[in-house]
Amino acid sequence: HGSVRFEDVRFSYDSNRPILKGVTFDVPAGKTVAIVGPSGAGKSTISRLLFRLYDVSSGRILIDGRDIRDVTQVSLRAAIGMVPQDTVLFNDTIRYNIRYGRWNATDEEVEAAARTAQIDGFIRMSPKGYETEVGERGLKLSGGEKQRVAIARTVLKAPPILVLDEATSALDSHTEHEIQEALEGVSRNRTSLVIAHRLSTIVGADEIIVLDQGRIAERGTHAGLLAAD
Ligand code: ADP
Ligand code: ADP
Repeated sequence: HGSVRFEDVRFSYDSNRPILKGVTFDVPAGKTVAIVGPSGAGKSTISRLLFRLYDVSSGRILIDGRDIRDVTQVSLRAAIGMVPQDTVLFNDTIRYNIRYGRWNATDEEVEAAARTAQIDGFIRMSPKGYETEVGERGLKLSGGEKQRVAIARTVLKAPPILVLDEATSALDSHTEHEIQEALEGVSRNRTSLVIAHRLSTIVGADEIIVLDQGRIAERGTHAGLLAAD
């Protein structure tokens, strides 16, 4: 389980400027849907509404057929693994940052999550491996590396639904490739909503939704959308 449905969702942060103007889509259980579109289209707003950082102005958001307003915040937070863009890490070790939220995880489980998120190589190269300090006071990581640590944390928690707002920071093509692979490993057989800023990210998505000025402008598969151009 872990299906998501947006049903005619409308939303504005303030009353006079609509941001989402009637958005309807499904993320079937186990599938990956990517949302793309120009900056300001409302993509990140969709992830914030699903996580209930804000409530819809009208329409409904359903998880497994239940309106998220009827679900407790605790079970909503447990159902959704949210990897925000521009992830901030704790001033602690890599191991702490991955294990955060699942303290009973074994070292083997932490390391398996790191492999899925494609950071095991990068951790081996770090001065003290898993005990390397990161965050403000520690080793400086790129936006993509921070996000992959956050992806490993989410993998370890294994929530039914994954929401990933891809880092917007400039990534070199090697990091971009690693993020894409991490994402494929993570989203396989897991209900995933990916806010994509790079085309490479959406190749593996089951459906791509093109959002423009708060409306769905186009939808289809990667191949289908390419053929339509
Ligand atoms: P995208 O992720 O597609 O770039 P966003 O969902 O972040 O777009 O933003 C959509 C629109 O909502 C933008 O015009 C943005 O300026 C506006 N917006 C985003 N956050 C807020 C906020 N907290 N208050 C008011 N307007 C906001
Ligand atoms: P991003 O574009 O990286 O998703 P945000 O969602 O935080 O970043 O912001 C998107 C846009 O919304 C930005 O242009 C920002 O200036 C604007 N914005 C963010 N918060 C507010 C707010 N409280 N009021 C008005 N505009 C906002």
